Amino acid sequence: MLPFRLVYHPRYDLNLGDHVFPARKYRLIHDRLIAERFADPSDFIQPQPVSDDEVLRVHDPGWVHRLKTGTLSEAEIVKLEIPYSREMVEGFWLATGGTILAARNALRDRIGLNIGGGFHHAFPGHGEGFCALHDIAIAIRSLQHERMIERALVVDCDVHHGNGTAAIFAGDRSVLTLSLHQFNNYPSEKPSSVIDVDLADGVEDSEYLDRLVGALKVAMSFAPDLAIYVAGADPYREDQLGGLALTIDGLKGRDQLVFETALAHSVPVAVVLAGGYARDTNDTVTIHCNTAIAAGEALQ
Ligand SMILES: [Zn+2]
Repeated sequence: MLPFRLVYHPRYDLNLGDHVFPARKYRLIHDRLIAERFADPSDFIQPQPVSDDEVLRVHDPGWVHRLKTGTLSEAEIVKLEIPYSREMVEGFWLATGGTILAARNALRDRIGLNIGGGFHHAFPGHGEGFCALHDIAIAIRSLQHERMIERALVVDCDVHHGNGTAAIFAGDRSVLTLSLHQFNNYPSEKPSSVIDVDLADGVEDSEYLDRLVGALKVAMSFAPDLAIYVAGADPYREDQLGGLALTIDGLKGRDQLVFETALAHSVPVAVVLAGGYARDTNDTVTIHCNTAIAAGEALQ
């Protein structure tokens, strides 16, 4: 049995059909981790959907109501960039419950991993960039509300800037937001994180890892009670929505660096997956599976 739990639900799939966001990746990751004997079915636990009370600690009541009742405007659906369906809404509520569960598990096991979540482009009153609920912010607010943590760190290594995270936690001294992203990419408007590392187009493994080492060093001086690691697979050089040039090995090195640095500072890590749009979805699945493998190695 693994020394940490893998949080997953078959209904994480957002029912997107033929879309650049391969929402079936969650099931493919689950299946591959078992097929390759990294994990046993008993290593997985299923979350409950997040409660609306928890969602409302971050989101506006109107946005939540329109999502749940299927009354989003045409403009809101266009901005969200994914088709509306009941399954989509249910998937966001479940994935957010999963991020909360992974964060609780991290406090117990040192690492908790949600095979889902990472919806860092959601704002309190609207969704965008495939993100309807900000699962990361909701999880931080839930654990703060229960007094399980005071200070949280968000280490966002998705290729896209964590605009929703930055906006939600602006001026909140209890949360340090760190985003390492390709500057010339979505979103065009980037509200300031506490630490923004703007990367040029085409950055490769060694420069990326150097910049991450420096940023993590500063972030660790914040002495957070929990880090949430947004382990996007889209800095990969074959990504359709990314413009960096990391290799699969470089991305695994990134994961190892985050886990080793946090654990060396006794900071538990909850992992969420975020983006990943490789030309070959198998590569996206490999990159995400490697994050789970790096987590297991870091706990040995
Ligand atoms: Zn992304």
